Amino acid sequence: MPSTKHIVILGSTGSIGRQALDVISAMPSRFVVDGLVANRNVKLLLEQARAFSVASIALLDVEGNRDARRDVEIQAADVGCRTFWGDEGVEELVKGSGAEMVISALVGFAGLKPTLAAIRGGKDIALANKETLVAAGALVTRAVRECHVRLLPVDSEHSALFQCLEGERSDEVKRLILTASGGPFRDATVAQLKSVSVADALSHPTWSMGRKITIDSATLMNKGLEIIEAHWLFGVGVDKIDVVLHPQSVVHSLVEFVDGSVKAQLGMPDMRLPILYALCYPERVENSRIPEMNLLEHSPLTFQPPDASRFHCLRLAKEALQSGGTMPAVMNAANEVAVERFLSGKIGFMGIPDIVEKTMARHNVTAVEPELEEIHHADGWARECATQIS
Ligand code: MG
Repeated sequence: MPSTKHIVILGSTGSIGRQALDVISAMPSRFVVDGLVANRNVKLLLEQARAFSVASIALLDVEGNRDARRDVEIQAADVGCRTFWGDEGVEELVKGSGAEMVISALVGFAGLKPTLAAIRGGKDIALANKETLVAAGALVTRAVRECHVRLLPVDSEHSALFQCLEGERSDEVKRLILTASGGPFRDATVAQLKSVSVADALSHPTWSMGRKITIDSATLMNKGLEIIEAHWLFGVGVDKIDVVLHPQSVVHSLVEFVDGSVKAQLGMPDMRLPILYALCYPERVENSRIPEMNLLEHSPLTFQPPDASRFHCLRLAKEALQSGGTMPAVMNAANEVAVERFLSGKIGFMGIPDIVEKTMARHNVTAVEPELEEIHHADGWARECATQIS
């Protein structure tokens, strides 16, 4: 019998968090959920705490939950659960828990600090929060090495690359090829892109995901962030990471080797598969929640190049990685602000890459390998800057 693994989930009420709990609920003898962290969805967090008999919960948004605070604590205590609040409370929960693994699935830059706390607390990380590696790749990968923990990708493309690279030598890798669905506007003209609505951008053709990542998929910034993520996860230069559009989202990514051989990982477009792989690594384990794949239903599988003239975010992400230092953090922050502004109807769709580009142009990179404080400062500066650009 495999031993039981104790887990903490950062971002349990979001799309990845809910799917992780779904996977775990199908294998109750293998996993114990020790702690759950959410930003503000109190109702669902308490439901999850009850269903999984969780020892501790934490809410990041102290201000937004001010009125509910006492009530939340009473309800949690009724089911034998401790409640923590804010950044420091989350860190206390993570470090104090006996969990071996933390699933990092908060949205955006907010995931960085608790993920670093988990690494420094000696926990293996199942990483769904790509912004953590984008904003602070050097810092995070250094902490992973120093603390001797595993960093396992949950992002479907990176899980695919990770699986293709298992047992291979890094000096025999020629190229990483990330696949992208192309989002809902894959074939839209520039004129059409200028006038797309929020609802259009939120309707992704193949994946069901949270709002921020769905917009990032429509602008292809998601793939830009994933190039940076792949660079830090696998130590491969940006010149050796390519992107190919693959509308069916069945081939999750590929690795080309020096002898001309290409390995790919295929599966249904369902995040529960990479979540399961990260949770059980290095084992492969059956799970009733994972849908079976029938290749015949997905034919034909097609591939096409991305059009850089319509989707500027791919280029911006590569430039940010090449500039290095604080630039990827600035790009990420500007993108988070721009996506929020688009979702609230303040700017058009093409305003997103425009704001990111203008913010990057105004930033001077200083430190080559910035510390957390410098990254925070750059993030704050970029948010301010991106808010003001009209
Ligand atoms: Mg992905």
